[in-house]
Amino acid sequence: MLAVWVEQLLGYASGALKVIRRDERYPTLVAWAREEGPSLVGGKLPMAQALAPELWSQTPLERLDFAAEPLARPGRNEPCWCDSGRKTKQCCGAVRLPGPVPGHLMWMLSLREWKGDTLKAALASGRAPAQALLEAGLIAAETGQRGRAQQILESLFERGDWSRLPEQAEPAFEILLDLYQERGFTRKREALLDAVLDQGPLFLRGVALERLCLMHLDADDLDSARAAFVRAQQALPDSPTLAYIEAMLLLHEGHEQEAAERARFWFRRLARQGELDPDQLQFLADLADNPGATLAEQLLNAEEDLAGPLASLQALLEVLPTAPKLQVSGGAEGRLEYRQSEREASLLAAWRDHFPVEAAGDASLGLEGDPWPVAGEWLPELCAHPEWLDAPAVVEGLVLALTTRFGSLPWMAPSLFVPLAERLERWLEQVAAEGPGALVWEDADNALLLRTGLALVVGMERGARQRSRQLAERLLALDDHDSLGLRELVLDQLLRDGRDAEALAVSHPPAGEPLGEGALGLLLGRALALYRLGRQEEGVEALAEARQHNGHALALLCAETPRPGFPSGAGEGDVEPGSRAEAWQYRTLMRDQWRTTPGALAWLQAWLEANPERAAR
Ligand SMILES: [Zn+2]
Repeated sequence: MLAVWVEQLLGYASGALKVIRRDERYPTLVAWAREEGPSLVGGKLPMAQALAPELWSQTPLERLDFAAEPLARPGRNEPCWCDSGRKTKQCCGAVRLPGPVPGHLMWMLSLREWKGDTLKAALASGRAPAQALLEAGLIAAETGQRGRAQQILESLFERGDWSRLPEQAEPAFEILLDLYQERGFTRKREALLDAVLDQGPLFLRGVALERLCLMHLDADDLDSARAAFVRAQQALPDSPTLAYIEAMLLLHEGHEQEAAERARFWFRRLARQGELDPDQLQFLADLADNPGATLAEQLLNAEEDLAGPLASLQALLEVLPTAPKLQVSGGAEGRLEYRQSEREASLLAAWRDHFPVEAAGDASLGLEGDPWPVAGEWLPELCAHPEWLDAPAVVEGLVLALTTRFGSLPWMAPSLFVPLAERLERWLEQVAAEGPGALVWEDADNALLLRTGLALVVGMERGARQRSRQLAERLLALDDHDSLGLRELVLDQLLRDGRDAEALAVSHPPAGEPLGEGALGLLLGRALALYRLGRQEEGVEALAEARQHNGHALALLCAETPRPGFPSGAGEGDVEPGSRAEAWQYRTLMRDQWRTTPGALAWLQAWLEANPERAAR
């Protein structure tokens, strides 16, 4: 009954709005209401008449700068406001509408119709009810009108009057953040997050902090993520979101056991307060039991269409038989060469019929497009043809795809990356068994193996650190020119494991080789290793050398809260050596290690003060 009413009301109101926009005069609407209105409300003339003044009174008029021109509600014995000439009690006063007429309806419908300057002016008038902005914005987003959705939702959150936000503003807030992200409005996204964190209502602050934390985790900026978490803890000490954020953070930091302990703490604390629903409590209990698996499962469930195929892939990888041997031969000058076999080429061809993108030419990591929008096609096909994974080129494509999507999520590593790493490692063992020699990127089809290796090292870096480091060391041993830039990564991981002497050794390339592109990372890592080993005097030399490479790096590493708040979109590889962007990148990568090494930052600071910069470089 009510659904029929809502349907009729919407149809009638849309028709009425069209008529009103002809000249924005009440008599025009009334005439339409009597002639055409009844057909829209089940043939009921009295209802069609009664609705006209109600809707007119709330309709924003362009000629009045979007104010309405409400009619005075007449007394029972006064002439009816529908201009029928009868007394109200015998006319509209006697009509009982089947349901309410929302006060923001005509605004909401107008926001869906207006375009360009009119829409802009209407929003700028500040007269739109929050509920109308919310609904019109959500509808625009749902129907793919992203520009309109952004424009409308922005004015919902720009008004500064946070107390009047409707409760359902939370999904609208998330949608606006997503729109900013998709459309590349990084600054606006930052500004909105900042505004909400500073003055927003509590229910939005939690969402904002969660987003902020995830953003930093995505950028691998653990230090800023930790800072966002601390801020969240102060703002919302009893929010279950905190438990979830902290578990993610600890897993990113590589502390699985602590993640479980903290989840138990949250469970006890929040269960005692008794304000959580059973689903939330169960989630916390699962988190305490096995944080990694719980977050992985939650992620899979959030994938909707892909949850099934991804679970099949996990199952497939778990029982995947050992891969057949590769064709490897010793080439000239002690070089090792892998060549794709005919069988591998035909497996690859079959896979290519479904998997739409190729690895990006010379780049060590990445695909020439995004395969995930069509994953519903290739993922099930792959599960139906596990033999395709006998071809390294297929493994390469799959691993690159998985890394781009799940590489920054530690809890996905055990089920997705580790089994594929086992496969690759067996192949690499076979390569190494061919005798001493180097597996050089440019030779034969070697790049296939090396690129896959790098993607797996990155994919396992957070969630399966030991495995990641083993693989990186193995690759570095096979490829001592370090065409993948692994030296820096192995160094970072050794430092994270507190294996400082080994880290120090890795920071020196083989005799005669230059430090290469990752020089700054190697020098900063070397300095930290030396500091930890109590060899500060040598550490100082590394600091001086690092400063020659980049005049910003040391000061940025020390600074508590430097600009910019977020890393820019610039990917690795397009930062200039010696630039502030490069320095920022290394701050992001290394700051947490320096901060958690007692005294290290103070040592660095003291050295900087004692050795003020003379025109570096
Ligand atoms: Zn009337």
